[in-house]
Amino acid sequence: MNNTETRILEPGQIAPPTGEIRFLLLPGRDLFARRAERFRVLAPGHPVGEYLGFLALLADAQQEALDRFPPLPLPTPEEQALCRRHGMPLLAVRSWPRNPAWREGLALILRRMAGADVPAAVRETVDGLVSLPENRLEEMADGILSGDLAAAPPRELPFVAAALQVYWVYLATAVGEQAFARLEAGGVCPVCGSHPAAGIVRADGTEQGLRYLSCSLCASQWHMVRIKCSACEATEGIGYYSLEGSNGAIKAESCAGCNTYLKLLYLGKDGAMEATADDLASLALDMLMAEAGKVRGGPNLFLHPGGA
Ligand SMILES: [Zn+2]
Ligand SMILES: [Zn+2]
Repeated sequence: MNNTETRILEPGQIAPPTGEIRFLLLPGRDLFARRAERFRVLAPGHPVGEYLGFLALLADAQQEALDRFPPLPLPTPEEQALCRRHGMPLLAVRSWPRNPAWREGLALILRRMAGADVPAAVRETVDGLVSLPENRLEEMADGILSGDLAAAPPRELPFVAAALQVYWVYLATAVGEQAFARLEAGGVCPVCGSHPAAGIVRADGTEQGLRYLSCSLCASQWHMVRIKCSACEATEGIGYYSLEGSNGAIKAESCAGCNTYLKLLYLGKDGAMEATADDLASLALDMLMAEAGKVRGGPNLFLHPGGA
């Protein structure tokens, strides 16, 4: 492993005044189509290429579920104002009353996956999920959304997580950017309160060079100054690690204080990267960080803690 220790600038030197930049970038309604495409680019010849190929199919199904999502009740203007006033995420995973429609999304995803070219084991998992009682699905959803990915068996996690992502992306994009406000806690998603899957250093337009954190659930991106731990917000003791021989497009930003790390994707080095897909495709970096005794600062919902 290569600790590049590129602590050249202080955070304040990088960040322009916060009023001038967009603090939140919501995902597009084509999020899952773009993610599927990225998985397809990454899969061939990859050590976990089969899984990445499966996730490409799953993302296709997610896109279809999102395209067909029925109109649902959204937070009222009063609820929006209340959350803004108290600095709370408007669609908080722990308190937003989850509409059972998310399970219709899951049902569609399962139908699509049953008809896809997948191994027999995947088909068996799909069949098992189709026959699960609603309360068991809700229980798994509660666990996943509270950060306990082991609440679902490894084979079932991707499907349930995929349906929850679709539901929250639907909500976030239906509500719109203007409804959300910065939170006091910079390390959680201002839309849904989840932790980030990865950080992105953008390379385009007015956001060039700025770091955004990408939500593991709703894929919203929110601004956080660079060289700052996304877990404990420390600005001291931050180090950067990358795989030896890599092009530096992905680095792990690690914090000596809380011992966590979060990957950073430098779009200036590779503009095709997508947070969830490229996070999964760079598992080798996670393994090296684990060997160094570091733990992930945020989840990837397709990465079961017990192994896939
Ligand atoms: Zn979110
Ligand atoms: Zn920290």
